[in-house]
Amino acid sequence: MKIYDIAVVGAGPAGCMAAIRGAQLGKKVIILERNNKIGRKLLLTANGRCNLTNTAKMEVFLEKFGKRGSFYRDAFNQFSNHDLKIFFKKNGLELKEEAEGRIFPVTEKSKSVVDVLLNVLEEYKVNLAYNYRLEHLQKVSKIFKLTSTKKELITAQKVVIATGGVTYGFTGSTGDGLSIAELLGHHITDLKPGGVPLCVREEWVHDLKGVTLENVGLSIGYGGKKIYLSRGNLLLTHFGVSGPVILDSSNRIIELMDEHGDLKIYIDFIPELNSEALGVRLMEDFQKHSKKSLRTYLKNHLPNSMIDPLLNIISIDPAKKLNQITKKERILLQEALKSLPLTLNGHLPMDKAMVTCGGVSKKEINPQTMESKLVGGLFFAGEIIAGCGGRGGYNLQQAFSTGYVAGNSASKI
Ligand SMILES: Cc1cc2nc3c(=O)[nH]c(=O)nc-3n(C[C@H](O)[C@H](O)[C@H](O)COP(=O)(O)OP(=O)(O)OC[C@H]3O[C@@H](n4cnc5c(N)ncnc54)[C@H](O)[C@@H]3O)c2cc1C
Repeated sequence: MKIYDIAVVGAGPAGCMAAIRGAQLGKKVIILERNNKIGRKLLLTANGRCNLTNTAKMEVFLEKFGKRGSFYRDAFNQFSNHDLKIFFKKNGLELKEEAEGRIFPVTEKSKSVVDVLLNVLEEYKVNLAYNYRLEHLQKVSKIFKLTSTKKELITAQKVVIATGGVTYGFTGSTGDGLSIAELLGHHITDLKPGGVPLCVREEWVHDLKGVTLENVGLSIGYGGKKIYLSRGNLLLTHFGVSGPVILDSSNRIIELMDEHGDLKIYIDFIPELNSEALGVRLMEDFQKHSKKSLRTYLKNHLPNSMIDPLLNIISIDPAKKLNQITKKERILLQEALKSLPLTLNGHLPMDKAMVTCGGVSKKEINPQTMESKLVGGLFFAGEIIAGCGGRGGYNLQQAFSTGYVAGNSASKI
C-alpha cells in the first residue's frame, strides 16, 4: 500500500498551506477534505472579500491572541504577514491595504485567494482526496493509519490535523479533529465563541434593527467597575448588538459574563468630547439655538432613528424647545449621550461565531514545529489550536503561519 510522507486533514487555509509547504520540500502529500472543494469557510471571510492578514507588528499580532499569544512568536517569525503577502503576489494575486492595516486581495473576492491555493496545490502535485471525512486516526509502528467514515484507509508517515474549529458548521468545520486529538490523549480547552454578536435585554434596541451607530465608544461595567473597551461602529440588531466594536470585544465580554452574569455596556455617542466639555457645549448650544426643538438639535449628534428612543429613556419630550429644557434634563441628556447603558444577557450560539476560542491545548504542542508533544509525527495547524485572534486578518495569518510551520517541520523532522 502507498504510504504518503504527509497526510493533511482539512483543506482550509491552514491545511492548504501545510500541504503546499510539504510538497515544496519534495514530499508526497495528500490532503483529505470532507467537502468536494477546498476553502469553504475561506470563501465566506470578510463578507466574501477575505481579510487575509494585517500589517501590524509582531507584538500586536501576539496581543491579538490574548493571554498565551506568545505561543505564536515562532510561527509568525517563520512565516510572517510579509511572507504571506509575497506568497500571494508571487502566485499572481495583488493585495491592497485598507483601514487599520487590513490586507485584502485587490479583486475583493475570497474566491481569488482560494483559486491561488488550488493552483499552487496542483502545481506541486499535492493529491486532493475530496469527500473524505476522517473518522479514525491510529499510529501503528511509526505509521499513521487514517480511516474515513466510508472506511477508506490512507497511510502516512506524518499527519497534520487542520480541521478548524466548530463555528459555521455547514462549511465542514464541526470539530472532528478535536475529538480525534482527544482520543489520542490531547486535552481540549473550553470551546467559547470568538467574534460573536451579543444579546441585549432592552426592547428598543431590537426595534432599531439595522441602525449603525458610527464611531461610538464602548465601556463595560461589572463588579462596581467601569472599563473602557474600544471605539468603532456598533450595529443594532433584532436580538441585540453586533458590528466591529462588538465583534472585537466579544471574547473579553463573554469571559466577564461567565464570571459576573448579566453585564452593562455603556455607549458613548460623543467620544471626542469628555463629559464636562459636552456639558459646556450643550449649555452654549441651548442658548444659541433656543428656538429649535430638541429633536432637531440632536440630529447633529445622533442618527435620526435613535433620537426618540433615547429621549424616551430619559423621559424628555422631543418636541420641547431648547429654551424649555431644564438644567436637570440637560444633565440627564449629557449623561445619556456619554454613557447610555444596555443590559447584555447572552450571546448568539457558537455556530454564529467567527472563530472558536478553545481547542487543542497549546501546552501539548511544540511552538517551534507545531508537533504534538504527546504523539510524535502528529502536527496541528490553524483554528483547531486553542485560543483565537481578534478581527483584522489575524486568524487567517495564524492559519497560514501554523500551516506553513506544520508542513515545514513534518517534512524535516
Ligand atoms: C463568517 C466568517 C468570516 C471570517 N472572516 C475572517 C477574515 O476576514 N479574516 C480572518 O483572519 N479570519 C476570518 N474568519 C476566521 C477564519 O475563517 C478561520 O479562522 C480560518 O478559516 C481557520 O482556518 P483553518 O484552516 O484552521 O480551518 P477551516 O477554514 O475551518 O478549515 C477546516 C477544513 O477542515 C475540513 N474538515 C473538518 N473535519 C474534517 C474531517 N473529519 N475530515 C476531513 N476534512 C475535515 C473542513 O471541511 C474544512 O475545509 C472568518 C470566519 C467566519 C466564520
